[in-house]
Amino acid sequence: MLLTDDLLLDYKRCQRRAFLNAYGSPLQKDPERDFLLKLRQESQQHLKNVLNEHYPDHEEPQARQKHWRTVAEATENLMKEGAACIYHGVLVYEYADHDDAVGTLRARTITLLGRPDLLIKQPGESKYGDWQYWAINIQLGRRPKPEYKLITAFNAYLLGFIQGQLPPYSEIILRRHNYHRVDLSVWIPKMEEVLAECLKMLDYQTEPEVFISRQRCSLCHWYSHCYEIAQSQQHLSLVPGVTPSRYQYLQSVGVLSLESLAAISPKQFGEAMGLEIANQLQQQALSLVENRAFRRAITGKKSVASIPTDDIEFYFDIEAEPEQNLDYLLGVLLVDRTENSQRFYPLLAEKPEDEFRVWEEFLELVHTYPESPIFHFAEYEQETIKRLGQLYQTPRPVIDRLTARCFDLHHQVTQCATLPVESYSLKSLANWIGFQWRNQGVSGDQCVWWYDRWLKTGDRSFLQAIVQYNEDDCKATYHLKNWLADFLS
Ligand code: SF4
Repeated sequence: MLLTDDLLLDYKRCQRRAFLNAYGSPLQKDPERDFLLKLRQESQQHLKNVLNEHYPDHEEPQARQKHWRTVAEATENLMKEGAACIYHGVLVYEYADHDDAVGTLRARTITLLGRPDLLIKQPGESKYGDWQYWAINIQLGRRPKPEYKLITAFNAYLLGFIQGQLPPYSEIILRRHNYHRVDLSVWIPKMEEVLAECLKMLDYQTEPEVFISRQRCSLCHWYSHCYEIAQSQQHLSLVPGVTPSRYQYLQSVGVLSLESLAAISPKQFGEAMGLEIANQLQQQALSLVENRAFRRAITGKKSVASIPTDDIEFYFDIEAEPEQNLDYLLGVLLVDRTENSQRFYPLLAEKPEDEFRVWEEFLELVHTYPESPIFHFAEYEQETIKRLGQLYQTPRPVIDRLTARCFDLHHQVTQCATLPVESYSLKSLANWIGFQWRNQGVSGDQCVWWYDRWLKTGDRSFLQAIVQYNEDDCKATYHLKNWLADFLS
């Protein structure tokens, strides 16, 4: 059985993903998304920058065939010779194992394979002499996430067998070339635990249950496959608010289906997770079963602002490029209720350096009607007003007056209503009330890719696609506001 560092990383992120990567049919995989391709390119560029800046004299194992076995041999030859820095080496450790869980002793060979980005020679003991190697992994992330630490501990673990000496540390190089040292006395035991579980799952081919978690699953190449299964089972993970731990609890008290969650009295499971959450989950399930929206009871000290209405209203949505910390499109839909008309203003930075100009145009536009409310969906737009205000030194009172006019419809809808949706994203909510985007299946991620393509190719069709998407986002926000105001009245 072959277990690689990549597979272990998948296992740490989602056990099912590791299983499908090992045993799933490639035909069921989604095609690679443009946004992921962009991330991969950025990651490769980051790796190159680190190499050029810090390790220009690295050596790469040379093997006639690119099979991992021959590259592993070439890597060990470089280690024996005492190369100062080895780039793209392969570490392999094989051992025989016995499994007697089913009564008959079964022998199999387990191959562990790691591909650390760098192996760095350090003073110390090893079977080669008075030197040893430490593993370094180069990551694009800003923080040393536990899964990065786990993988670099895995590579150090393999080094321990190969060079006959476990190194004391491994290192991770992060986005701004920050070094993070991983204490292996802490991380090797944790890694061994995960490794044993992962080997067991692969060995017994036990397929982990599907559990859709938006954040984790949205960029996974098995998403369509898993989502189809979850939908066919009406899986409880599709109910907003059902987290893995709440799901475990619901299972333990016999709530196994959407119908049973809709029918149960919240008092029966309110003690374990709090009555308010229990109520919310039950109402959410009922809303999905009956396909209708409910008004949410406002409990305790909470109060909810009423939705403003004005002759002139603004609907505001931003497209951003997180990598460059750039807000390149400030889209504003101006709705004139007296004239029953709408006009869309795509305030677009065709070049990143135009962000300031776009910010000034935005200020000018929203000041034409200085009392009108500015509707948006979720917190990003208000945060961006503050960020741009600070960056471009807009006077504080101007920013304060502007943010006081902002009205977050996501906050409002989640406080006041339960809708039969699988998520409280703008897309899910607006789709349910009947709004359709002209370009179906596009997301904010896709716009990030399109903007990158525009900057690299100068092809204006990418900009047009972004503007159309952003205009639809603003219109969807407008529809949602109308629907919510009607519903709550
Ligand atoms: S879609 Fe989600 S549940 Fe399925 S493999 Fe990917 S991360 Fe795991």
